[in-house]
Amino acid sequence: MNRDDLLREVAINLDAPLGPTRFTAELEDHYRTTIADARRPSMLIAGGIGMAILWLFVVQYSFFSERPRAFTSFEVWLAMMGCLNLLVLGYVLIHAMVRSHRVRDGATMAIMIAIGAVVCVTISYDEPRLRPYSLFAYSLFPVAANNLVWLHFRQALTVSIVGMGLFAVLLAVIPDVTVEIKIMATLVVLGVGAMSAWANWRTDRGDRVGFLWLTRERLLVELSRRQNEELREISAIDPLTGIANRRVFEERLRLAAEDGDDGLALMMIDIDHFKLFNDHYGHLIGDQCLQSVAGALAGQLRGPDDLVARLGGEEFVVLMPRLVEGDVATVLERIRAAVEQLTIPHAGVRGHADDVVTISIGCALSDRGGIEERRALLTRADRALYRAKNEGRNRWCLAAP
Ligand code: GH3
Ligand code: MG
Ligand code: MG
Repeated sequence: MNRDDLLREVAINLDAPLGPTRFTAELEDHYRTTIADARRPSMLIAGGIGMAILWLFVVQYSFFSERPRAFTSFEVWLAMMGCLNLLVLGYVLIHAMVRSHRVRDGATMAIMIAIGAVVCVTISYDEPRLRPYSLFAYSLFPVAANNLVWLHFRQALTVSIVGMGLFAVLLAVIPDVTVEIKIMATLVVLGVGAMSAWANWRTDRGDRVGFLWLTRERLLVELSRRQNEELREISAIDPLTGIANRRVFEERLRLAAEDGDDGLALMMIDIDHFKLFNDHYGHLIGDQCLQSVAGALAGQLRGPDDLVARLGGEEFVVLMPRLVEGDVATVLERIRAAVEQLTIPHAGVRGHADDVVTISIGCALSDRGGIEERRALLTRADRALYRAKNEGRNRWCLAAP
């Protein structure tokens, strides 16, 4: 399920009038998969508790029960206890080893129902004087189904109802118990069943509502982080040319100032006679020209540490950190030539059809760190650009140190 679908499903389920005991199909599966691992330790502890209770009964019957008791019923009773132990052991193994929550939940339901059946048979073999107590003790069964093993509400309810059915059959077939005791036992088992089912419903509902809110919050946080990222990207990019904008340039210059690295080259770049270009070819072609020039400049960067940004209008800037002094002239010439070699016709100046768009570059090099120096760098680069324009354009000028 993708994030938007999940968010929509969560909203639908949060609006469910009675509180959710089951989500819409896809979300239900997501929920159970998500919490399956979290439930495993609880389920294992439940198995341990179940086993301990069983053994308490075994010990009680074996050592503290009044002797002599009917031999056959004791044998049968031990066999039943053996069955119960095997069932609980199977339950523990399944929860320890099986990863699929469907298999685990299905097996838990089946094992609980089998346990209910075995207990009913055991009770039917009990000594007559003990039977009434055993009937009352059956109220442990719905508690185990609803509250000990961590079944989802509907699963727990199913197991409880089947368990009640088994109990009803047991009451119908056992002899030697008065109707009064049967009614009392039924009321106790039903009462405990209803209370434990109610407790399960509240827990299940609480878990589910918590899950919905948590999922919603997590998704919304993720969404807003994504949107922030997109916004940051948008606010960093010049929409016309797709290269970085002034904001990014200023941030980079500030960071470079903080680093105080040597050999930072700052190149102010301005398209020559761009006003005339616009006048001659129109604004739309002017925009295309800006895009081409931006692309050509970006093509001259050495790597991610270099930056080209559009400052506005037809002015660009290139930042190259750690540029070796001996390479400066080569790099500047390459950048200048890259734009000229685009051979974008510019007949706007002299009316010559083979005149092309060119740029002028003013470059300043820093060899000292510090924010003041970086501001001075800008001014020096600007002055060098002014000189390049005055000296005839389509050239680069290096600012005096
Ligand atoms: P110089 O060689 O001295 O730089 O001359 P210039 O004409 O390029 O100088 P100026 O700064 O006067 O002209 C800049 C022109 O750039 C003016 C404006 O029409 C044009 N311009 C600024 N922004 C845009 C834009 O986004 N798109 C287009 N098509 N033109 C722009
Ligand atoms: Mg200009
Ligand atoms: Mg210009």
